[in-house]
Amino acid sequence: MIATIDENSGYCYGVVRAVEQADNYLEKHTSLYSLGSIVHNGTEVERLNSKGLKVISYDEMNNLSDATVLIRAHGEPPSTYQLAQKKNLHLIDCTCPVVLQLQKKIRTTFAEIQAQNGTLLIFGKIGHAEVNGLVGQTNGQAIVLENINDLHQWLIHSHERLCNPIAVFSQTTKDPIEYEALGKELRSELLRLTGQDQQVAIHNTICRQVSSRHPNLQKFAREHDVILFVSGKESSNGHILCELCKRINPRTYMIEKMQEIDPKWFQPEDTVGICGATSTPKWQLEQVFSYICSSEFDNLVKFK
Ligand code: SF4
Repeated sequence: MIATIDENSGYCYGVVRAVEQADNYLEKHTSLYSLGSIVHNGTEVERLNSKGLKVISYDEMNNLSDATVLIRAHGEPPSTYQLAQKKNLHLIDCTCPVVLQLQKKIRTTFAEIQAQNGTLLIFGKIGHAEVNGLVGQTNGQAIVLENINDLHQWLIHSHERLCNPIAVFSQTTKDPIEYEALGKELRSELLRLTGQDQQVAIHNTICRQVSSRHPNLQKFAREHDVILFVSGKESSNGHILCELCKRINPRTYMIEKMQEIDPKWFQPEDTVGICGATSTPKWQLEQVFSYICSSEFDNLVKFK
């Protein structure tokens, strides 16, 4: 078997930055609180936990005072900063600059269209930390759409607002093809229902670090017999990218740890591509690579 690591996989810039800041802080201090999991990757979180990182919830943050809390790359709504101030907490704010920019754009756009009774739509996963941070920029008034069905539901219940301004944004890690389809559907439904679509502005806010991975990953999935997609099961970006590989190559398997690899997935002559999400560190891909290339694994495949 020949195995290859996808050179374009590994942490995105925002996650590298957050993990580096946590590592740097924990070199000099014995513990650090992280509001939510710093990265959707159990193995990496375990590594940081062993250095003193403690993942906390909002309720637990509410019970802290005079402590240091890390804000992860996904960002937070304004209410989190207000709580930190009230509790006298020191923040290490690792909100990704791309997310910060998006938050600002949503805030200013919402202020503009609110006066005209407009609507701000966000294509994203309900309850996802980044989405909560984005919705927070609109005092909770943005509408989150997870898919085209949600869009249709919103259209049915919003007849009286369809001629007012509509601004659409996407969570940074969504699938660009799905976002484009949602935008097209919105325009065509507005034309059908109101006779015009000039009132809608669709903003391209999918992170380039994510969208540029799509064509590269499709090519990579096509070039290998089996794809091992390494990702935390919680990672929304992981599920999107893994599905992308699966559509091209049905022999794609999502794994979080190398112990999950089943020798029955392989034939001795297979080429194996190893890739991952924006929250998968390179070292984890290398670990899977070493295991696949070991004679122990080779024997398991040959004599399965
Ligand atoms: S995917 Fe893009 S926006 Fe999101 S954390 Fe990574 S670099 Fe930042």
